[in-house]
Amino acid sequence: MAGRSISYITGSQLLSLRRQPTIAIVDVRDDERTHDGHISGSLHYASDGFTDNISKLIHEVKGKDTLVFHCALSQVRGPSCARKLVNYLENSKEDVGIKNIMVLERGFNGWEASGRPVCRCKNVPCKESECAS
Ligand SMILES: [Zn+2]
Repeated sequence: MAGRSISYITGSQLLSLRRQPTIAIVDVRDDERTHDGHISGSLHYASDGFTDNISKLIHEVKGKDTLVFHCALSQVRGPSCARKLVNYLENSKEDVGIKNIMVLERGFNGWEASGRPVCRCKNVPCKESECAS
């Protein structure tokens, strides 16, 4: 796990990659997710209490090798939660198969401002196939 680093992905890159079965999108916004919609198929792990839920997250993304974190702007919460996961994996002895940890540039707000599809379902987690977008 040594040397793992966080890279950035743009909205247009994510738009073309997000249907890949090995990618998980992790939304770490807090209450805003309820009001502002979300990227379809994204998981929700609020930044508040994120550390306590890391093992649950790792379990939920079994089989995925790429995790893309975002918050509203991806300036504070998104990168810091991504960093917490990197640290956790570096300290953990188990190989969970996560190879890439990324942060979505400009976050959800940038995604929405660029006119990319926003899902407003109330499912937790979002069930992509049932979403209009
Ligand atoms: Zn949804």
